[in-house]
Amino acid sequence: MSSVPVAVVTGSNKGIGLAIVRGLCKQFPGDVYLTSRDPGRGQAAVAQLQQEGLQPLFHQLDIDDLQSIRALRDFLKEKYGGLNVLVNNAGIAFKVHDTTPFAVQAEVTLKTNFFGTRNVCTELLPLMKPYGRVVNVSSMVSSSALGGCSQELQQKFRSDAITEDELVQLMTKFVEDTKRSVHQQEGWPNTAYGVSKIGVTVLSRIQARLLNEQRKGDHILLNACCPGWVRTDMAGPKATKSPDEGAETPIYLALLPSSADAPHGQFVSNKTVRPW
Ligand code: NAP
Repeated sequence: MSSVPVAVVTGSNKGIGLAIVRGLCKQFPGDVYLTSRDPGRGQAAVAQLQQEGLQPLFHQLDIDDLQSIRALRDFLKEKYGGLNVLVNNAGIAFKVHDTTPFAVQAEVTLKTNFFGTRNVCTELLPLMKPYGRVVNVSSMVSSSALGGCSQELQQKFRSDAITEDELVQLMTKFVEDTKRSVHQQEGWPNTAYGVSKIGVTVLSRIQARLLNEQRKGDHILLNACCPGWVRTDMAGPKATKSPDEGAETPIYLALLPSSADAPHGQFVSNKTVRPW
């Protein structure tokens, strides 16, 4: 078994994820895994970074596929005996003018952004080594979408006592409510992406709390973040940040020094803790 530290970035064959891998290859003292659901796109991205003189490793990972997540989990367990850095970056967004019915957009978006990310956490968080760092890439849109929720929902999503099961029930209810076209009546904002990212931010708060309760002595720090508005296939060419600039906050959180005890369980953008 290798004692080399190991970092994994989900959805890193392009965009912000690729830039996070680039930055970690330069700064993280260990093996860095670029992962992609499509091995061809993943290997092409590895080749691109190799051309830049970097040495990322590759592993397949489709966060929508539990078998794929478990294969990565078993690989990490066997080769490294755990994991030091996990960046949950993979995500999707329908374009604003996409005509796919809203209920379908809700189901598909929540499936990857919330349920897929949660499944990765369920399988990989138990592998985190002491002083491990976990970064869940959310979005400022989670904050604006929270503001668009009913007072009752806002209270639930801001609660320091909400459980993971309760969060899963709420995310499931959103999808069901969109199918019956009652989501706005039920207090939801009209954004599937926004609700999926509320899920990511609240999940991060819950997971950080669980780490405090169950693994306090391990000094693991887990946070959600917004990368900013970044020029990628998702956000388009008008966005203000380059992918490398968008990677700065996720990399900062992934490399918090072992002496740090904060931030933890926070929502961070531009390397600054934001109110939730
Ligand atoms: P992007 O260029 O579209 O890249 C998304 C990445 O996620 C791609 O590598 C994609 O792989 C991967 N992915 C999607 N579904 C996946 C799945 N089921 N399993 C594994 N990988 C999957 O988007 P981006 O702008 O870099 O976004 C990265 C993250 O930042 C997302 O979570 C996004 O919500 C968040 N974010 C972005 C912005 C922005 O302005 N760009 C702002 C706030 C937050 P494929 O190539 O196979 O599709």
